[in-house]
Amino acid sequence: MNTPSVLNADLHCHSVVSDGTLSPEALAERAQLNGVQLWSLTDHDELGGQVRAQAAAAQCGIDYVAGVEISITWLDHTVHIVGLGIDPTDLGLIEGLRQTRDGRRNRAQAMAEQLAKVGIAGSFEGAQLYAGNPELISRTHFARFLVEQGFCRDTETVFKNYLVAGKPGYVQHRWATLENAVHWIRSAGGVAVIAHPGRYHLTPLQMTELYARFKDLGGLGIEVVTGSHSPDQYQTYAKIAIDYGFMGSRGSDFHDPRESHTDLGLLPNLPSSLKPIWSLFH
Ligand code: AMP
Ligand code: MN
Ligand code: MN
Ligand code: MN
Repeated sequence: MNTPSVLNADLHCHSVVSDGTLSPEALAERAQLNGVQLWSLTDHDELGGQVRAQAAAAQCGIDYVAGVEISITWLDHTVHIVGLGIDPTDLGLIEGLRQTRDGRRNRAQAMAEQLAKVGIAGSFEGAQLYAGNPELISRTHFARFLVEQGFCRDTETVFKNYLVAGKPGYVQHRWATLENAVHWIRSAGGVAVIAHPGRYHLTPLQMTELYARFKDLGGLGIEVVTGSHSPDQYQTYAKIAIDYGFMGSRGSDFHDPRESHTDLGLLPNLPSSLKPIWSLFH
């Protein structure tokens, strides 16, 4: 019998509906093969994969919780908020996400114009060929195009030399607010979780403000064990979770078999000192 903290819960990954390369069905099969017991598909700013993911999980005999990863702008930085246990038919959430996706096409065109200036032609059309969902063209799709064209060895290298602040192809963008994202998630019956806190280039004071404001708004969790954290960061964010009274979450952030360092479900357990966010669903 599993204790809650050692449940193989993977509550963060992406399908072709956002910037992953596998279908919801292929992800469910892969999750099952890797021993995942509780799974969530958390596409960026999109719920289009939820019905398929839920059905595929049932087929594979794994438990499913509906999810989403919302892009927000916090103090001029992009931060991601995961919503778990949401009702994917909630109209407020659907409309909020539609607004959040809205500027992506213009942003992509501006990115392509910048890349053209450094000699990379046709990246808008090129990135679009990789986007399974025309409403969700992301930097990841540009990164795949740049790798295919031989400008970079892999997507990791792209995100060092292009598409990030100070490099060609970076366009500042205003996403949803923290307040709206948490409100949409909670109104849709879900719980809000700060995604991969170790990835943000915020100062310690700004992180403190983020945790405090998120908590005030009713945010409940933070990701502690994620494919985006190093093992020492598991300890750092376990301590943050305890200090702020957040529940801990665990998720691979899997996007693609070749690009992702961490496969579905193949992560260390959540530290047993933490209350797992899935105690709310499982
Ligand atoms: P966007 O929402 O268009 O800004 O794209 C963000 C996505 O780019 C993230 O969800 C990741 O999938 C990907 N990404 C961002 N930074 C990196 C990185 N350093 N390495 C690999 N992928 C990254
Ligand atoms: Mn992504
Ligand atoms: Mn993210
Ligand atoms: Mn993600």
